[in-house]
Amino acid sequence: IVGVGAALLDAVRAGDAIGLDVATGSVFLRPDDATRERLSTAQAAERQARQTVTARLIADRAQPGATRDGWRVVLAANIGSVTEALAAHQWGAEAVGLLRTEFLFADRQVLPSEEEQAELYAQIFAAFASSRRPESPIVARTLDAGADKPLPALRQLTEAEANPALGFRGLRIALAHPELLLAQVGAMLRAAGLTNTPLHIMFPMVATVDEVRQARAIVRQAQAQLAQRQVPLPDVLEVGIMVETPAAAFTADLLAHEAEFFSIGTNDLTQYVMAADRLNARVAGLSQPTQPAVLRAIARIAQAGRIAGRPVAVCGEMAGDPVLGPLLVGLGVTELSMAAPQIPVVKAALARSTLPALRAWADRVLALPTLDDVQEFLADGVPTA
Ligand code: PEP
Ligand code: MG
Repeated sequence: IVGVGAALLDAVRAGDAIGLDVATGSVFLRPDDATRERLSTAQAAERQARQTVTARLIADRAQPGATRDGWRVVLAANIGSVTEALAAHQWGAEAVGLLRTEFLFADRQVLPSEEEQAELYAQIFAAFASSRRPESPIVARTLDAGADKPLPALRQLTEAEANPALGFRGLRIALAHPELLLAQVGAMLRAAGLTNTPLHIMFPMVATVDEVRQARAIVRQAQAQLAQRQVPLPDVLEVGIMVETPAAAFTADLLAHEAEFFSIGTNDLTQYVMAADRLNARVAGLSQPTQPAVLRAIARIAQAGRIAGRPVAVCGEMAGDPVLGPLLVGLGVTELSMAAPQIPVVKAALARSTLPALRAWADRVLALPTLDDVQEFLADGVPTA
């Protein structure tokens, strides 16, 4: 629950009990006994229901994601550690749709060398490989440091900025310091070669075609260097981009010529389309992925991908929502990548509906003018007809 206002924070004293009802978005300061009782009962019921459903769905984990009429939707996991790579299988992930590499170095004062990085990636790839289907890829994102993800190891290369979210972050840092990207991509290639992992390399915060061309040139350079030293390379290598800036959304048709796959970062896309900081609670009402402007941007990107024959994933938080995940499929998205524990719930929601029903439903959502209209409409849940 966010955006409840500073008044609440002023009223809270150390040691106060606070009750949360996430179903209605309500916060109870110093709840009375009846409220406590009501919240505890609701919580226990919710936990019980979730445990029952999850146990059954984990049992079905080998079942791939699909609608009732058999439209395949790859359900993948977002991970940022070896532990999460192992858990991804437990929850039935068909692939890793986003490895956030910056999380691996969050506590480092200096970035590890190419060799050290290769070892770390190989551990993660092997952890996921122990369970994956042979064809399951790992989408490894190159460093997305800066703004909401500051990286101490890059402090020397960056400086305080007035607008860090619009500043030096993600691929912009990598292209200004190509030696960093070369080492990271080299390490990913080695690890994938070693563990026989189909590797998808993904660049974050892309705004222009030129950036993708420059970054791809660095991937080719890393491949050539390793090949010359006869280091084994992965059999499968694809290079793709995050679509998370309005610039990328508007030029998705052009970017589709430069990238083999798209993954829509709806967390940042929402922030940038709505011009509303994703970390600022005062604008939380604007930074909602169900804002009509964001939904239309997603539909447009998916359409550009479909026309160009490129898969279009979503790896932002909304992909793991049991209503919004199916809505994304209706909007034309082909793969959903999420926190692994969400996979069974999204899989179940998809399996209850059909592709034509999801498409018709998404078309109706796209015509709605306000956030309230969209939320009210979606409150009826995913269509099962
Ligand atoms: C996103 O922006 O939606 C995304 C998946 O990337 P991150 O949250 O790491 O910026
Ligand atoms: Mg992002």
